[in-house]
Amino acid sequence: MADSGILDTLREGILVADGAMGTMLESAGLKPGMCPELWNVENADAVTGVHRGYADAGADVVLSNTFGASRPKLERYDLGERVAEINAAAVALVRSIGGPFVAASVGPSGKILEPYGDASVAELSEAFEEQMTGCRDADIIWVETMTDIGEARAAVDAAKRATDLPIALTFTYDDTPSGPRTMMGVTPEAAAAEIGDVAVLGVNCGTMDGCMAALQAYRDAGAEMPLVARANAGLPKWEHGRTVFPEGPAAYAESVRPLKEIAGIIGGCCGTTPAHIAAVAAVVREG
Ligand SMILES: [Zn+2]
Repeated sequence: MADSGILDTLREGILVADGAMGTMLESAGLKPGMCPELWNVENADAVTGVHRGYADAGADVVLSNTFGASRPKLERYDLGERVAEINAAAVALVRSIGGPFVAASVGPSGKILEPYGDASVAELSEAFEEQMTGCRDADIIWVETMTDIGEARAAVDAAKRATDLPIALTFTYDDTPSGPRTMMGVTPEAAAAEIGDVAVLGVNCGTMDGCMAALQAYRDAGAEMPLVARANAGLPKWEHGRTVFPEGPAAYAESVRPLKEIAGIIGGCCGTTPAHIAAVAAVVREG
């Protein structure tokens, strides 16, 4: 599968991406307060097991366990000096399962940009560049869960300096009466207009309806690149002191059907499991 590039393969049909990582690692024993990305080094078998579960479910694209592996995030665990090691190890774990395309997940830095916070665009971009340099053996840099145009810009520019890999960029929107808006007030139209220089654009971590609306808004704004959608498994509920996403594999996969008209890559976000992805793969591949 990975013999030709991911962008070539995308021209031939819809690809299936994987689902949630965090909740899968919790099932494998990750406790609150532990650094999920340190497991790429210290509990590699558990991480590889999650990747293999998604690959066996039919995922064509598997994201590395590097969502929070930028220096500002790792510093919270006193691991700021291990950015290169942790990212390279994570990418190698996905590669080791063979088959799926390796997408290097890059989540928000956790810093707030000036003037609301104290971080500069240059500082964030440098942190992303350091992380992405560690991910250069991936097939695609996968910037996700973005809510701020400035931070997304910093990440995309960093990816171009760090590697020659294609870039996927996904924003996270809330459903509002006037349509999808990120926490920072960004519309999909603005995202598409201001950051059109990516190979794949999309949305993750929202409702299925919100994903559909955002992808349509990207197209309406003139975005012509392949689009990606990774929704949560229904609306979050608070149960027994923790957030749960209640939608089961069959219902989730059924709700994916309209996305086949517009998306090039379909996967899952919070609450999705290999069973959800197996059901999605069946819907995507039914022709
Ligand atoms: Zn999510």
